[in-house]
Amino acid sequence: MKHLPTLLAILLIVSCKEKVQVEPMEPQPATETGIVHEEYAGEEPTEPEATEFYEPVPPTVEPYSQNGAPSDAIILFDGSGFDEWIMTTDSTDVVWHLNKDGSMTVKDQTGFIQTKRSFGDIQLHIEWRSPAEVQQEGQHRANSGIFLDGLYEIQVLDNNDNPTYVNGQVSSIYKQHIPLAMASVPTGEWNSYDVVYHAPVFNGEGKKIKSGTITLLHNGVLVQDHVELKGTTPYIGYPKNPPHGKGPIMLQDHGDNSRVSYRNIWVRELKPAPALPLP
Ligand code: MG
Repeated sequence: MKHLPTLLAILLIVSCKEKVQVEPMEPQPATETGIVHEEYAGEEPTEPEATEFYEPVPPTVEPYSQNGAPSDAIILFDGSGFDEWIMTTDSTDVVWHLNKDGSMTVKDQTGFIQTKRSFGDIQLHIEWRSPAEVQQEGQHRANSGIFLDGLYEIQVLDNNDNPTYVNGQVSSIYKQHIPLAMASVPTGEWNSYDVVYHAPVFNGEGKKIKSGTITLLHNGVLVQDHVELKGTTPYIGYPKNPPHGKGPIMLQDHGDNSRVSYRNIWVRELKPAPALPLP
């Protein structure tokens, strides 16, 4: 009888195992994988040189050459003026504050500003700062935003000790993608955003055939990892997918005395990677 507990335990394990038994998996039918390159074919090279190429040679880009921006970047704001920007509502001169320290600050209730130029796929660098003097809470504490193609918002917000809905917090893709981390510096200090944006593609009938994507580093920390844009980023309602071509970069006036500042804004237009000739 002294072995009874052990026997019962074995029986219990066996019966549990029977309960969780699953049907053997059927072979899955082939599905689209998203792989776009073709398999290497033909006779495999036996010399290393057969798979080494010397062109096309990548263009040289000097980093840090334009007051910190790469040599091929378009400087959108360096503190000297609003030459690259207009008011969104009526395309007139920007009335936001131009500060002596090389930054600009949202002028409350004057409206969004946007670039005069339009862009497609881009790498964007932008720095922003919430005011050191804290006012209000939640979505009303230093709320602004960067709208790619004028449609897709990367949230700017002072989230320090200021919780809000996570898909609308700082560095979210507004109401679509929660950031992978909360990487803000202390309130009143400068944050950086580095963005890689690929615009959605539409066919001749205006139907979206390829989603846009966003990668975002917040102060050097990866917070959005090549996420798929589901469409526009409205405050109320679902994302929409109006067909569009190149569009401006817009900066938000949230209209609640948010007083967000921006500086050091530059952009690089992205080109498709050159194709590698296959052996
Ligand atoms: Mg916003």
